[in-house]
Order: sequence, then structure tokens, then C-alpha cells
Amino acid sequence: MASEPSLSAPKGTRDLLPPESWAWQKVIRLGMDMFADAGYAPMDTPLFEHTEVFERGVGEATEVVGKQMYTFIDRGDRSLTLRPEGTAPVMRSVLEHSLHRGALPVKLAYAGPMFRQERPQKGRYRQFWQIGIEAIGSESPLADAEVIELAMRFYEAIGLEVKLLLNSIGHPGEDCRLGYGKVLAAYLTEHEAELAGVDRARIASNPLRTFDSKEEPTVAVMAGAPLITDHICDGCKAHHAQVTSALDGLGVEFEAAPKLVRGLDYYMRTAFEFVAGGLGSQNAAGGGGRYDGLAELLGGPRIPGIGFALGLDRIMLSLSEQDQSQQTGEMAAYVVALDEKHAGPALEMATRLRRAGLATDLDLMTRGLKGQMKAAARSGARYTVILGAEEAGPGSFLVKDMTSGEQEVVDGPDLEGRLTR
Ligand code: AMP
Repeated sequence: MASEPSLSAPKGTRDLLPPESWAWQKVIRLGMDMFADAGYAPMDTPLFEHTEVFERGVGEATEVVGKQMYTFIDRGDRSLTLRPEGTAPVMRSVLEHSLHRGALPVKLAYAGPMFRQERPQKGRYRQFWQIGIEAIGSESPLADAEVIELAMRFYEAIGLEVKLLLNSIGHPGEDCRLGYGKVLAAYLTEHEAELAGVDRARIASNPLRTFDSKEEPTVAVMAGAPLITDHICDGCKAHHAQVTSALDGLGVEFEAAPKLVRGLDYYMRTAFEFVAGGLGSQNAAGGGGRYDGLAELLGGPRIPGIGFALGLDRIMLSLSEQDQSQQTGEMAAYVVALDEKHAGPALEMATRLRRAGLATDLDLMTRGLKGQMKAAARSGARYTVILGAEEAGPGSFLVKDMTSGEQEVVDGPDLEGRLTR
């Protein structure tokens, strides 16, 4: 086993530290608020689930389940897995709590870490964050359009330019995806000798996956492969046409991507991906699709659904490449004690301002006046409130505007009002 220094974060994981963490939190809040404004309620599921949730939901033939899961046996001899994705757990939860028996669609939003044992590289981690939504219970192409428009508006709001790739991968019927799978398998068999070794095994197990291959020889073969768009059934074609016309109506631009099949088995009909610049090979900033068969795979009734998951690590990477400006928490005031005698009152003042809803900080390191003023400047606070200054009489305070450098004496009762101006 490869040895790692025992006190570093495990390979493929990282600490989220300031100042990046500020921007991170801001983006999550913005997303969750935006989704809430469209009716998506916040929710959370456990970080681990019974392994079966993913084996049945995502599919054992997928890379994610077959090769990337963090699965362990707990002390009660149960097989548990750190969640590699959010949709199967959300559906498990909807079924468990019978949310689908209430008002439909069930609209939910989440943000949290996912775990996959992949080879780490830029934009690819073993613990990574996703923010996502699920609209469960509607088969309407309008639900697809709503979900996709929300993702695009989220990217726009955070200032990240992405391209929307859109496809329909049909449904698992003989007249649709299964039939296409056979056509594709026949084509692949014909070109078997030209395929990369690792991809040959897929002809029988999961021919559609060959579109995801990064192996040069396979990519060359796939360039001439039959496309799913030419083989999906009339029902799926009509659904797709309605999705694209709804998107047109919303002014959402997309690129038809007939080779986009996506990595998880539960997708059917609509499949989409958002690609961003500046990320190299890991350029998928998010993706999603329709998963009308998922509830049944988990042992429930047939409940259609559509959703997306956006990769926050990649979004933040791409943003930091676009915009290097540092984000900090915004402080309204920094309280400074002129001498030791005023250290206690300084904490009382900071608390008073915080209780009034003003973001306030102060020195907790017993620094001298100069050190405190430096810390005040570093904090980015708009004002510094100085306690114990001679020019301010009892009950008044010296307030320094940190932008203009001007100082004024403010009466005690007027302080909060002055600091919010
Ligand atoms: P998926 O669940 O595979 O469709 O992934 C949805 C999004 O999550 C992707 O488009 C990526 O932005 C992000 N993502 C997936 N796997 C990783 C990973 N290992 N590291 C970082 N981000 C990831």
C-alpha cells in the first residue's frame, strides 16, 4: 500500500480554506436561493447509504459503481457506501417518506460532498462537491426545460460561461435505446480490431459507454458510429422536440450533442452537460438528465424525474481562472481598544453591534493600538470604532471611515445608525 504522511488530507481530498471558502459559500447560497425561488426546497441525505441504493439505482455496469465507490462494512456487518452521487439517494428518500404521494412534482435542491475513487488530477477529486436539483413526478418536457434553464441562469449569475450540450438517449425499449444498442454493438464488432483493448469488453456489456472512451483508437472508430438520435422511438423523439422548443421559447441556447450518453445508467430521454473553458480535460462543469426508470430500480413504483448536479470544485476552478479577485467576508466594523482598560468594553461593544445585525470583529490577541489598527485594515471593515480616545468624551466614540480615513466623534446612541450609513 502506498504510504501517505499520516497528518495530511487523504489523496484526492483537499481542505477548503479562506479566502476560497468565502466565494464557495457565496456560490452555494446564491444557488440554493435561486432554486428556492423556483420552488425547489432544500434537503439533505446521509453521506452514506446502503450499497444497494447505488448498485440498483446507478447500475453495477457503470464506472462509478463498478470501480469508484468507497464501500465498507460497518461494525454491524452492513455494506455501506459513501455516496458517489446525489440522485439515487434523493429518490430513495422520496420513496421512503412517500413524498411522491403528496403534491407533485416534488422539487428538491441539495449541496454537499460526493465521493469517488478516481485518479486525482486538476478538477478531479475523490471528495468533490455538487449542487443539484431534482424535479420528481413530472414527465412533461416543460420540467426538463425548467430544470435546464435554472442551471444556465445559475451559471450566468455566478459569472461562468458554459455551453449547454443536449441530447436524448431514448428509453430502454427494443424500438428505442435497446434496439440502438444492438445496431451500435454490430458496428463496434465490425471495428473490433481497431478499438482500444479496454473498450472491446464494452461491446457486450455496455456498448453506449464507448462514446465516453478517451482512448485515441476508440475515439476514431466512434467518429463514424451510428447515432442514437437516428434510432430513438417516436415518443422519445416527440418529447425531445418539445424540450428543445421549450428551451427556444426561454431563449436558452444549446448545442445538439448526439454522442452525449452520460456515465450513469439511470438516465433516459433528456441528457445534458454543461462545459466550461479553462478546465482542460475535466471540462464538464455539470450535467443531468431524465431518470424515469430510477424509482422502479429502487423497488418503488414508476415515478418520472429530471435533475442536474453541478460540480462546485470545477465551477470554482473555472471562476478563479476567469477572475482572480479575492473574496472576503464583509465586515461593517472593527472595534479597537485604545488601552488595556478598554479591552473588556471593546468586546461588549462588538457584541452590541453584532446583536444589532452589524458584522463586527475585534482583536483577541491583546495587541497594542498600532497592531489593532493594522488588523482593522486587514479585516476589510468599513469603519473602525475606537474606545477610550481622548477626543471622544464619556459615552461617545471615535469612528474612523476606513475608506476616506476621516474620523469623527459619534454619540453612543447614534453609533449603530452611523455605521449603517
Ligand atoms: P456526474 O454525477 O458524473 O454526472 O457529475 C456531475 C458533475 O459533477 C460533473 O459535471 C462534474 O462537474 C462534477 N464531478 C463529477 N466527478 C467529479 C470528480 N471526481 N471531481 C470533481 N468534480 C466531479
